[in-house]
Formats: sequence, C-alpha cells, structure tokens
Amino acid sequence: MRENPQLVLKKYFGYDVFRPMQKSVIQTVLAKQDCLVLMPTGGGKSLCYQVPALVLPGISVVVSPLIALMKDQVEALLANGIAAGYLNSTLAAQEQYELENKCLAGEIKLLYVSPEKLLSAGFFSFLKRLQVNLFAIDEAHCISAWGHDFRPEYTLLRHIKEQFPAVPIIALTATADRLTRLDILKQLGLPQAQVFVSSFDRPNLNLAVMPAKNRFKAILDFLQTHKNQPGIIYCLSRNSTEQLAQKLMGEGYKAIAYHAGLPAPTRSRAQDAFLKDNVQIVCATIAFGMGIDKSNVRWVIHYNLPKNIESYYQEIGRGGRDGARAGALLFYSYADVMRLRDMLKEGNPEQATLQLAKLERMQQFAEAATCRRKILLQYFGETVEKDCGNCDNCHNPPTTFDGTLLAQKALSAVARTQEKANMGLLIDVLRGARNQAVLQKGYDKIKTYGAGRDLSALDWQSYLQQLLNAGLLEIAYEEGYALKLSARSREVLFQNQKVKLVKFQPTTEKPAEKEERRPKKEFIKDALFERLRALRKTIADEKQVPPYVIF
Ligand code: ADP
Ligand code: MG
Repeated sequence: MRENPQLVLKKYFGYDVFRPMQKSVIQTVLAKQDCLVLMPTGGGKSLCYQVPALVLPGISVVVSPLIALMKDQVEALLANGIAAGYLNSTLAAQEQYELENKCLAGEIKLLYVSPEKLLSAGFFSFLKRLQVNLFAIDEAHCISAWGHDFRPEYTLLRHIKEQFPAVPIIALTATADRLTRLDILKQLGLPQAQVFVSSFDRPNLNLAVMPAKNRFKAILDFLQTHKNQPGIIYCLSRNSTEQLAQKLMGEGYKAIAYHAGLPAPTRSRAQDAFLKDNVQIVCATIAFGMGIDKSNVRWVIHYNLPKNIESYYQEIGRGGRDGARAGALLFYSYADVMRLRDMLKEGNPEQATLQLAKLERMQQFAEAATCRRKILLQYFGETVEKDCGNCDNCHNPPTTFDGTLLAQKALSAVARTQEKANMGLLIDVLRGARNQAVLQKGYDKIKTYGAGRDLSALDWQSYLQQLLNAGLLEIAYEEGYALKLSARSREVLFQNQKVKLVKFQPTTEKPAEKEERRPKKEFIKDALFERLRALRKTIADEKQVPPYVIF
C-alpha cells in the first residue's frame, strides 16, 4: 500500500503541513499527470517531487543542471534516511557502476542526474531496466532559449517524453514569464500539463532604482544603513566584480569577487565564506547564486541593469529568504542599456529580437514612476490592487492625473487595429500619421485614427508604457510585438474604470540647474532624449508625419 504524503512529509522531512501549492502539485503527480510548477526560490519546489518519489513504488529521476548542488541535495536526503544518489561527470567509473547496480537492485528512490548523463549513450536503456515512475526537471527554464539561462543540453530533454510516454514529468522553475512557460511545455512535449503558478509576491523586498551616476558613493551610503549585513552586488562584467571588491576592501569592507572565470576552488571558497558570514559582500556576475541557500541575505544591489525582468527578479529573490526585510537597489544607466543591446545583438539573431524586447521591458521598469512591486507582479501575470508602500516610487509618489480618456483612446485604438499593431505603429495611428505602414493597413480609416494627435509621440510612448506596466496592455512578443488588450482593459473601455497616469514632462529647465536638484529625472531625461533622437530619425525617414518637437 502507498504511504500517505502527509505521513511522508512528517516522517522524512519533519514538517507538519504542506505549503498550499505543494499539496495540489503532489496530488497531480500521484495521479500521473504532467505538471509545470512555478514557485519563487525558497518556495519549496523540491518537496513537490521528493514526496511523490517516496510515495510511489520504484525510482524517480531528477534532472538538475547544477552539479555542485546535486551532491549537497543528495547528502541532505541521505541524512534524512532517504535512499538517494547522483550520477554526473564528477564521479569515478567505479562509483557510477556501484550506484547503477544499486538502482537495478531497487535500492534507490531518488536518482539525480545531470542532463549530459541522462542523454549519454545507453542511459535510456539503463533506465528502462528500472521501474521509473517519475521524472522531475529542476530549473526547467534552462530548456527555453526565451528564458534567461538557456542551456543547450537541456533541449534534448524532449526525448524523455518520447521514450517514456507513460511516466509523468514534473518540470519546476522559479523564473519564467508567460512566454517562457509556453516554451517549456512545448519543448518538453507536455501540451496537457497542469500549470501551477504560486504567487511571486515578495512583500519583504524593498525595491528601489537609482541613477548610476556616482554609483560607488551611493553604494557606500547604502552600506552605512546596512552595517554588517550580508549582501550581493551583481555586476555585468567579471572585471568589475574584481575592481569593485578591491575598492570595497579599500574602504574596510569584507568583500570578495565571484565569477565563472575564477578557478573552481576559489569560487567555492568565496561561496563558503559568504555562507558562513566570513565576508559581508560578494561582488558577482550572474554566475553566483543559483541554488545558493543563504536565508539572511539582507540586500542585493544591481551595479548594472539586468538584461530582463526574469533575471532581475531571480537575483533580487536571493535577498530576504528568511522573510525579514531586505533591500533591492538597482542602478540604472542608459549606457548599460546600450551595452546590453550590443551584447544581445551579437547573439543568435532569432533570439535577439525577443531578448531586445525583454530588455526594453526591463528598461521600462527602471524608468517607471509607479509602484514597482505591482509592475513586477504584473509581468509574471499577477494583478494586485494595492501599491506596496515600500518601494521608492511609493515613498516618493509622482504627481498623477486622470488619464482615463487617454487610456480609452489608446485601448480603443488597440482594439480597432485588431490587436495587430506594435507600439510604434499604434502611436502613428493615434497621432494620425500618414506613413506607409498606416495607409497600407487601412488604419487611416478607423475611428480612433488621429484621436491622439494633440500629444507627441514621446508622450504616447510614456503613457503606453504606463498602461503596460499597469497590466492594461500586454505585448505579444510572438506576434511581432503587437499590443493586446488584457482582461482589465475591458473595465477601462466598457465600465469607465478610472486610470491614473503620471504626467510625462520633458522639462525645459536648464540642465545645470536640474542636475543639482533632481538628478534622477535629469538622468531619465537623458534616456528619453536618446529615444527621441531615434524617433526623430524614423520621422525623418517618413516625411509625411506631422513634425513634433518637445524639447
Ligand atoms: P526551492 O527549490 O523552491 O527554491 P526548496 O525546495 O529548496 O525551495 O525549499 C526551501 C526551504 O523550504 C527548504 O529549507 C525546505 O526544507 C523548506 N520547506 C519546503 N516545504 C516546506 C514545508 N511544507 N514546511 C516547512 N518547510 C518547508
Ligand atoms: Mg530548488
């Protein structure tokens, strides 16, 4: 007879209750259904497959990309009296052989493997000699080139379903936006999978964005208010992790650098020192963190802009896992945007467009003037009504105006262009531009054509971005970045739901004066200015558009 999941939880893990989603996931897995589980880091994904593995007869196979982590996890399981083992390239032939024999003898319940091992010659036939009852794929976003940590070897995992059609698969990740989720299911061949998304809300994180000017000074100020508290500074380049660590040490801080270019022993020493609180600060590239289980990280600083919101969210998610307050400070510079853009453009051209669009969303987040937690949650598909009250924008709210009419114009234009126009085209339609794209599609005949000609293209860009950030619009990346209505946009269109917008004000103040008084706005203006230049160029190419100048 099967053991009861509840009893397994108590007996092997010592916990009394499941977290809300764990229970339903486990039931689904036990009913032999495939599923995709999205839970933030620390949410308790492991139990979603470990408990079924112990309830089910036979063996469960766990695919994990993190070789270093596999060992720790297996050791923790063994310490709890669970028959577990791992197979990866670090094992000697003899050790592998012994473990394989144990599997064949039915002595192992949970077998962790690296994707390379799983797909190595003869491994599937080996598995077929065992009674495999479940496949778990941890860090499943690695399978999607649309996600933020693509691992080419993961794409071969699609063979699992082909080879074992009757065995349920549970895919787990802490980071996947809507598109990445769809891609994971497609790649793994799980069209029927049940998708579980737990809340991504991390109310204990204090989000803030600052201009990147005088970053080092700002970091020193920040550290003054976070004395002796452990934290991570993410940098874009390996070089800057080392330089920054040096500079911080020069100021008397215990700091250390971490990046993939350092020898493995150095990295593991750095990690260890941080875990044991022997250093306060790790200056790291994104190589640091996946799977690092340190609950008291009190702050995470992004020295550079991350390349998308998924990465950003994943990285700040390493702060405050104990539930106590933690700071997340992002430095934003347009120079970073340009740098990332160049980097992304060098990659696979098919992916580049999508990655650039994701970068654009990241940039919008950095430039946003409304509650940041709301924007993040919206990005992952969660709508919250109340502002968080803890982010920089909530502390320093910008002045808003009743933008209902503007929003209605925009949303109605989206509807009347059959949700097929991207932002640029929609702005042209709203402003009554007579360029080829508009005329060819006959958009000059629709009712909202020219309904927003009183505003500049840059105004519209700001307002459309605000509508995106508020979840009143969505971008269909897979359909040429067309703007789409969301469930909530209908409330605005048909129920007269009020919309507040932040006034877009490219001011005419003298730069010098402004820089002193409001460095943040000045800085953002730089970015907008760049965009305006780009827009102007487009306009120069399309002479028919009525000219507009706002600066
Ligand atoms: P994830 O893989 O989602 O990042 P883990 O599976 O590593 O998270 O779990 C994070 C922590 O939460 C672990 O210390 C784990 O033991 C604990 N945990 C998970 N489920 C429960 C539960 N039902 N009750 C108490 N603690 C739990
Ligand atoms: Mg995990």
